[in-house]
Amino acid sequence: MKTNPFRLPELGYQLTDLAPMMSQQTLSCHYGKHFQTYIDNLNRMVNGSHFEGLNIEDVVRKAPEGPMANNAGQVLNHQLFFEQFLPAKNAKMPSGDLLFLIEQSFGSFGKMREAMDNAAKQLFGSGWVWLTINAEGKMQVLSLPNGDNPLRHGLKPLLTIDLWEHAYYLDYQNRKDKYLENFWLLVNWHVVSKRLV
Ligand code: MN
Repeated sequence: MKTNPFRLPELGYQLTDLAPMMSQQTLSCHYGKHFQTYIDNLNRMVNGSHFEGLNIEDVVRKAPEGPMANNAGQVLNHQLFFEQFLPAKNAKMPSGDLLFLIEQSFGSFGKMREAMDNAAKQLFGSGWVWLTINAEGKMQVLSLPNGDNPLRHGLKPLLTIDLWEHAYYLDYQNRKDKYLENFWLLVNWHVVSKRLV
């Protein structure tokens, strides 16, 4: 039976809302085409398999290394990525428990950001940089290749930067630094806070 359990999630913003940091052209292609392809691939693989009834987090945790883990990882990675933005004019800074935990783990918000920026600049090839938290409440920056996800390493993902070239090439070409600088203007810290629980 083909239940095609995974669907493109709705965005809390319009495709034009993140410009000029992320253009409509980039979002149409990245969200509308790349993300959709990972979803279609994953649906084809889970249909009729014993993964069919699982939520995306469990597929990511349990899929054996290979095409299913790659595509499930990319589905969850993009879900987390696109859900964590808002128009730059509405962006605030982290506060409350989230800020407290960032300061406990890194010393300051600026040091956390610097750790993520440095990991992003150093990442060679396609992958993602993650802000993660472990069961003891300790945050850590993690750099993972391709479609890997912190859940496969026992860590909870809080915030992520897509460093596949498809995420920034249309808007920034080789200027990864500028992509990173603008990334921080779009983060919806309320969404990130909700990932703590
Ligand atoms: Mn991507």
